[in-house]
Amino acid sequence: MQLRFLGAAQTVTGSQHLLEINGHRLLLECGLYQGRRKEAIERNRNFRFEPNELDAVLLSHAHIDHSGNLPNLVKSGYRGPIHAQRASAHLTEIMLQDSGHIQESNARHVNRRLARQGKPLIEPLYTQEDAAQTAGLFVKQNYDQPFEPIPGVQATFVEAGHILGSTAIILDIEEKGRKIRLWFSGDIGRVNLPIIRDPVLPDRADYLLMECTYGDRPHRPPEQAYTELRDVVKDTLNRGGKVIIPAFAVGRTQELVYSLHKLMDAGDIPAVPVFVDSPLAVNVTDLFRAHTECFDQEAQNMIKNDIHLAALGFDHLTYIRSVEESKALNERKDPMIIISASGMMEVGRVLHHLEHNIHDPNSVVLIVSWMAPHTLGRRLQDGEDQVKIFGEVFERKIRVARVEGFSAHAGRELLTDYALAVQDSVKQVFLVHGDERGATGLRESLALHNFDKTQFPPWGHSVEL
Ligand SMILES: [Zn+2]
Repeated sequence: MQLRFLGAAQTVTGSQHLLEINGHRLLLECGLYQGRRKEAIERNRNFRFEPNELDAVLLSHAHIDHSGNLPNLVKSGYRGPIHAQRASAHLTEIMLQDSGHIQESNARHVNRRLARQGKPLIEPLYTQEDAAQTAGLFVKQNYDQPFEPIPGVQATFVEAGHILGSTAIILDIEEKGRKIRLWFSGDIGRVNLPIIRDPVLPDRADYLLMECTYGDRPHRPPEQAYTELRDVVKDTLNRGGKVIIPAFAVGRTQELVYSLHKLMDAGDIPAVPVFVDSPLAVNVTDLFRAHTECFDQEAQNMIKNDIHLAALGFDHLTYIRSVEESKALNERKDPMIIISASGMMEVGRVLHHLEHNIHDPNSVVLIVSWMAPHTLGRRLQDGEDQVKIFGEVFERKIRVARVEGFSAHAGRELLTDYALAVQDSVKQVFLVHGDERGATGLRESLALHNFDKTQFPPWGHSVEL
């Protein structure tokens, strides 16, 4: 049997791993690659295998860097099942629909410029129609209930504690009388995240395929993130500026809403309008409520008393669905907080907000999540004075601030515990979904425990299991 690393290999974006077992092909994840535009287009459009020769897809969770290229896979001819945990499947369907919309409108926007310049037009990577077709291929699975995606493979989704419905995937494989267990971590969450349960650590595996995003550092405590958020927001609002926060619509957005609510209640920041400008974020509360099976005990109790809903909505908060309402925000000059997709600022409504405020030194772009190299988000984070938005170059006057610690990813300690949990049985640990620093950091941490069975495979590399 063979494992090929076709995405999130020595980087954190575009997760994709291909398994060949008993002559069948199984794809783990089909994430959207984000990075240098040309490279991203090339990576996302061209698969390194024939999509119609795949037998099944397994998806660990809904985040776009794990699921976002599925509609393109389907557009390219894949018609087999996409197995996902029940809540995760629902969440992914909503997110892909949103992503299709973003792809279409981004292409339209770019095409307007290209048409003006008399250049050939581009086609969106995929459309909402492709996303809808993808939704029809989902096979919804429950936590802890094994199923057989291809002959000789028994798959089980277990809790990853990362976002709603997130999973690690256990693969019990039998090929020519040989039995092995491959444990795929998905994205590993954190202990004590609000609402969702804690991650399940692996107990036994011959091979571990695991993420190492934050292998190089322990996380700052959530309290510190809270104070940093307070300081940046307070300073900007007192200057009369806008706070623009690019955020993934699911997970991070809810945490921010929760924190801003607390800060306003405590009188720690001025009470100004807060907008969650993402059609996708609007549906999430309902989705959360429909999947209480994924909740931890505390959240289940909160639901009973309906405190949970209150935490995701308050007086000054408006969820925005329509483009008109979104654009209307650009006409307003009063101080406000705008939380808007997408997370790395490559596409989405957040770009319009940035474009309209790029010359305002009183406003701020507040970065609260990891930015892949070469994305607009990373360029801003690196303090570049000239930035390209929709293909046009702007002089940046808006300030950029960063708050760390709002992470749904495990830090170095939990990652170390995760790998050490299988040290008695494991032959090899493959580190994926991390850059050089993350992998090196985790390897150093594991070396302190005399554990050195790790590989950090490059893109396109394959191994025999
Ligand atoms: Zn994730």
